[in-house]
Amino acid sequence: MTYNELRWNPLLGLWNIVSSKRKTRPWREEKCPFCPGSRELGYGWDVKVLDNMFPALKTDAQKATDTRDILKVKSGYGYCKVVVETPEHVGDLDTIPFDNLVKVIKAFQEETEKLCEDRRIKYVFPFRNKGELIGVSLTHPHSQIYALPFIPYRIKSEIANGRTFYKKNGRCLLCHILELERSEKKRTLYSNRSFTLFMPSFAMWPYETHIYSNKHLATLPELSEEQVRDLADVIKVTVAMYNSLFDFDLPYVMAVHQAPCNLKHNFFHFHIEFYPIHRSKDKLKYAAGIEWGTWTFTYDDLPENKVAELANAIQRASQRLATAGYTIRGDHRQVT
Ligand SMILES: [Zn+2]
Ligand SMILES: [Zn+2]
Ligand SMILES: [Zn+2]
Repeated sequence: MTYNELRWNPLLGLWNIVSSKRKTRPWREEKCPFCPGSRELGYGWDVKVLDNMFPALKTDAQKATDTRDILKVKSGYGYCKVVVETPEHVGDLDTIPFDNLVKVIKAFQEETEKLCEDRRIKYVFPFRNKGELIGVSLTHPHSQIYALPFIPYRIKSEIANGRTFYKKNGRCLLCHILELERSEKKRTLYSNRSFTLFMPSFAMWPYETHIYSNKHLATLPELSEEQVRDLADVIKVTVAMYNSLFDFDLPYVMAVHQAPCNLKHNFFHFHIEFYPIHRSKDKLKYAAGIEWGTWTFTYDDLPENKVAELANAIQRASQRLATAGYTIRGDHRQVT
């Protein structure tokens, strides 16, 4: 029997996902389940969406325990999907064909629409874990989508701060941040017609960067065909930048933040956050005592110094992409 449940943390006001079978998840399988010809995938595809074989959330989830007083327990209802990004076993978002990346984003759009139709689903979260150091057990290029029966804490917090800012200033917080970054130009790295890549002045991870849509929009399904292609472009350039930084494939988390299902307001602005865990070529940034114990991040350099390193990397990346036959759709920061 497997158990999938949600347990409420009354101190922090957030849900944890508890699933009893996930611990038996294989670390390395003999044969890659995402390569063409596997039992699940067959042949003749270039991007494929499938159900996670070891889901943390299920639509037929069974609870192992019951709510007692304020110690709330709910069934772990939800969906865990995998988006296999290419039939090729090796690669990253900067090396898979551009059209595959476009299809991956379209899969995010379609899944968001589909999953939000389930009235029990409150939030759809596409993300990507890259690299062994992040804990990736399957190296075949893929991203994931979790459909959650609640709005996660971090998103709630972004909405709450967005709402406060909107009430006070009559405009979107992220539109405002983007305007500040684009006028100051100290931390911007790349922009095309629809998106801007920059390091936020409040970066928590040493090489953290964010992608904001230039126009205000809240969810993936709102992106037009052209905006999808521009998003694929800025993601490709971002990952190429990271993989050019130290000349090895940099581990990272890519978190796609969109508005919750059925939330109609102007407080949420679509964006993507990248968290690489390195702080230099051979050192990692650990979330340790001060970070875990208080959620206060320490940044051991000036973010602007790290931006200069990323600017160098993005210059090399755009040359590398050009050599591989890809012309970037926007302008990157020039190294002076
Ligand atoms: Zn494979
Ligand atoms: Zn906005
Ligand atoms: Zn965010």
